[in-house]
Amino acid sequence: MKETTAPVEPLIAGARRHEVCRILGGTYDPARWNDWRWQMRHRLTRPEQFEQLLRLTPSERRGLAMCHGKLAVAVTPYLAELLDPYDPSCPLRMQVVPREEEAIVGPTDMVDPCGEEHDSVVPGLVHRYPDRVLLLAIDTCAAYCRYCTRSRLVAHGELDPLARRLDAIIEYLAGHPEVRDVLVSGGDPLLFSDEKLDELLGRIRAVPHVEMVRIGSRAPAFLPQRITPELVAVLRKHRVWLSLHFSNVAELTPEVAEACDRLADGGIPLGSQTVLLRGINDTVPALKALFHGLLKLRVRPYYLYQCDPVVGTGHLRTTVAKGLELIAGLRGHTSGYAVPSYVIDAPGGGGKVPLHPQTTMSYVDGTVTLRNWEGGEYTYRDPATV
Ligand SMILES: *Cc1c(COP(=O)(O)O)cnc(C)c1O
Repeated sequence: MKETTAPVEPLIAGARRHEVCRILGGTYDPARWNDWRWQMRHRLTRPEQFEQLLRLTPSERRGLAMCHGKLAVAVTPYLAELLDPYDPSCPLRMQVVPREEEAIVGPTDMVDPCGEEHDSVVPGLVHRYPDRVLLLAIDTCAAYCRYCTRSRLVAHGELDPLARRLDAIIEYLAGHPEVRDVLVSGGDPLLFSDEKLDELLGRIRAVPHVEMVRIGSRAPAFLPQRITPELVAVLRKHRVWLSLHFSNVAELTPEVAEACDRLADGGIPLGSQTVLLRGINDTVPALKALFHGLLKLRVRPYYLYQCDPVVGTGHLRTTVAKGLELIAGLRGHTSGYAVPSYVIDAPGGGGKVPLHPQTTMSYVDGTVTLRNWEGGEYTYRDPATV
């Protein structure tokens, strides 16, 4: 009798993917699955799709039902495959499937917590700091994080708001020689076609005093298929830095690793931004696993954000004391590269303010008393000049 080597492993691994495609009304086809445009066109957006995908909790069911007119719901098929169908505390599921708590408006919640409208100099351009600006280029994302700091702006379905605004934005940049750094965000600028992105970056780059261009994107995490060799060539051509957004180590799949490798091999400097979220990443082991995982992919953790007080996000926020405790649990305990700056984007337009666990215990008559990462006290004396 012939021995069989049944391909048990691949069948099980692919089962969920087939299920997602069935919910979408088709069958799994690897070529389409790996095409980012197919992924975007086939995003799950409707409550009945989530009913089939997940064993919904009553809170999720009500959250999905009430999302009309508020922050849109959209999940790429790639991401849908990763959501745990049975466990509502799955860190990915908590980020993209709405809950009824989103209807709660806390006393300190705001529509525009970072005060971006106040610092908007022309539509789509925020100039808050002396030498750099934030360009809001697009209102679409691959998937909508329920804690989005720009929920007031994203997913409004405007076809091409940038086309109308770009001339005024470029004119502003050209007229402000102090601007040396342009941060392109949105929405997710990597959802532009390669041609459009090339054109946008080309126009920014044509402003002679702009030295640095960076893009903020969640695409490598939620739509790694977007990171094609052609896209990397565009980013490389314009010498772009990328700030990626990751929240949990579960996002670092083999596909994401491949996308980050492609970017790093293409010479694109990679940083990451993480929002501190209750139940999603608010423990030292969770953050360590995420930051170590990112470093393995050559992504340097840049910022850990205290969750902005956006309307309807109270259920996902932690206290600041918790954030400080987490940073204290990282600093010194692991590679400095694995410790991002913990910041609050100060409500009302104060900008990013870093927070540190206290390490300067006193500073009197040129003597500083320091506390190190283990809690030990040390003294440093200023040089005896004059
Ligand atoms: C975050 C931000 C920047 C960039 O800040 P860095 O600390 O340089 O990364 C610029 N403008 C605005 C409005 C921002 O929110």
